[in-house]
Amino acid sequence: MPIVIAPEIQALAPELVALRRDFHRHPELGFQEERTSRLVAERLEALGFAVQRNVAKTGVVARLVHPARKGPILAFRADMDALPLTEANTHDFVSLHPGAMHACGHDGHMAILLGFARWLSQRKARFPGEIRLLFQPAEEGLGGAAPMIAEGALEGVGAIVGLHLWSGLKLGYAGVRPGPIMATCDEFVITVHGKGGHAARPQETADAVLAASQVVVALQTIVSRAVDPLQPAVVTVGQIAGGSAHNIIADRVELRGTARTFDRVLRRRLPELIRQRAEAAAAICGATVELQWIEQYPPTINDARMAELVRKAAETVLGKDRVGPGEPTMGAEDMAYYLEKIPGCFFFLGAGNPERGIDKPHHNPRFDLDEEALPYGVAIFAAVAERFFAEAG
Ligand SMILES: [Zn+2]
Ligand SMILES: [Zn+2]
Repeated sequence: MPIVIAPEIQALAPELVALRRDFHRHPELGFQEERTSRLVAERLEALGFAVQRNVAKTGVVARLVHPARKGPILAFRADMDALPLTEANTHDFVSLHPGAMHACGHDGHMAILLGFARWLSQRKARFPGEIRLLFQPAEEGLGGAAPMIAEGALEGVGAIVGLHLWSGLKLGYAGVRPGPIMATCDEFVITVHGKGGHAARPQETADAVLAASQVVVALQTIVSRAVDPLQPAVVTVGQIAGGSAHNIIADRVELRGTARTFDRVLRRRLPELIRQRAEAAAAICGATVELQWIEQYPPTINDARMAELVRKAAETVLGKDRVGPGEPTMGAEDMAYYLEKIPGCFFFLGAGNPERGIDKPHHNPRFDLDEEALPYGVAIFAAVAERFFAEAG
């Protein structure tokens, strides 16, 4: 079945491409999206939205309220930040700023939400409630969603929808799944304290390198032996640092890692599981440990009813055979903060096109997306709004 996009949405395609390329040329890192958010706010004001600037520093909240002001509030979210990466692409709209690149598709997310805003602006009295557009800063690690919520972006909102353009999914396909779709990404630092000394006189020391090695191995018993095998979890030690010379026994080693799960209850258990094992393993070598826990994004969990609504909306645009459940990933996403507060759905929209060489993973210096996906995104958002307000009665 061919994909049929409403002509008035297909007509937005040149504008969507121009917007995406403009954002792409001018990437800005998290909480520094000054130019980006100015451009977004100006455009939304011109389209007749009530615009609030400087939410969570560089965020923008735009409201389109029905004159009769009844009915629920439906929010849509786009993220605005780029990554600290130097672009290796050679197309004619490459990043003008070395060390910054839209390598995750957030330039496309903004273009889609602004295209949707134009579509809405031509239908101001269509939906009997409010449509709120959230352009948030700092998705990549700094968690811009949290201060957006703290500053009232979700006030009164009944449901929220967001998408991620996905290069690993082919153009024309979408992945919509109820329940957990992305994991937590909490970070931990374990400092192993031993007693240093001469490499040739180990009996006088407590070897922090040996103790740290035992800790790394012991942590592998968490997922394999302490967690339900039907429950996905990851404990990775990604960094290990200690010691000063080949013939000195180290007195201190630092391990850094990440612990991930889809489950809020298991998430609360992980710090204690890690602490117990680290302490016991280090004790074998006469060493002690200190655990620092750095809480990052919560799990991204879709509401079943909203996921069903988005799935049906996506099917009307792309066709039943092109909308699947997608695959959950142990990656993390700060859309999770909104979904902790209110029901909503975050879904993946295919933007990969291997035949055209568009197949690089996200966060790669050669990342790109097929811009044909942009009108698909607008069409799905429009279908979601239609369906949401129809169901709200
Ligand atoms: Zn990313
Ligand atoms: Zn992203």
